[in-house]
Amino acid sequence: MAGLLFILSAPSGSGKSTLVSQLRSMVPNLDFSVSWTTRAPRGSEQEGREYHFIQRDEFLRMIAADEFMEHADVFGNYYGTARTGLVEAAARGNDLLLDIDVQGAAQVRKNMPQAITIFILPPNPDVLERRLRNRSRAEGGVEESVVQKRLATARHEIEKYHEYRYVLVNDVLERAAEELSAIVIAERSCANHAIDGKPQNPELPRYRKLAEQCLLQNSATRLQPVLASFGLSL
Ligand code: ADP
Ligand code: 5GP
Repeated sequence: MAGLLFILSAPSGSGKSTLVSQLRSMVPNLDFSVSWTTRAPRGSEQEGREYHFIQRDEFLRMIAADEFMEHADVFGNYYGTARTGLVEAAARGNDLLLDIDVQGAAQVRKNMPQAITIFILPPNPDVLERRLRNRSRAEGGVEESVVQKRLATARHEIEKYHEYRYVLVNDVLERAAEELSAIVIAERSCANHAIDGKPQNPELPRYRKLAEQCLLQNSATRLQPVLASFGLSL
């Protein structure tokens, strides 16, 4: 059975895009939903790969034509997910992964409560700031106002962590990527997915255990110091 919907949210700079590309190299049959946005391309981003980059009036036309499953204003730009993605992924026998903000995730969850939601936390504000700056530098220059806007928004986004089924901390990249893969594999096994046509993955019990540890209700000890570093409590 294909057609599972995975939703990933995280404050900008947490490492979500990095984790998504690791995940897609580790797990087959997972389509990435390419969003539409009015923001300008960044660094080496390519039209149709990271985003479909469109003008504001075209975005407004798509809203009016009800072409989005969800859309939101994030940092002053529009971002949206087309309705067609899930049907097209399922037709290819694949599941679909959305990388969307907390507002978009709330909209999708309302209509599709079966969506599997995953929140990714950076380890603390200093690491988040360093990652945002490193990325900006690698893309050709730090725009201070952009970094500050994203840092200021991070705390408000993190406050929503408890709305998600799973919560990960992206500290050591390899570990977070393995946890993310484990969640996808464990959720597929619950939905009676046959991975790669094999009846049973021999690693399945280990993945299930790893995924279970990332469930919101099993994460208090791991999350407490991270939330405290952002001035939040459990
Ligand atoms: P997001 O998609 O959440 O905005 P990115 O994936 O672009 O974030 O990552 C932001 C920066 O942090 C990038 O320079 C990336 O290489 C780096 N990064 C991501 N995850 C880790 C990690 N676990 N450890 C160290 N650096 C990381
Ligand atoms: P960035 O500009 O760094 O690529 O993304 C900024 C934020 O917009 C991130 O939190 C990302 O998850 C979110 N985002 C990307 N695509 C979509 C989308 O289609 N819908 C919504 N609601 N948010 C999106």
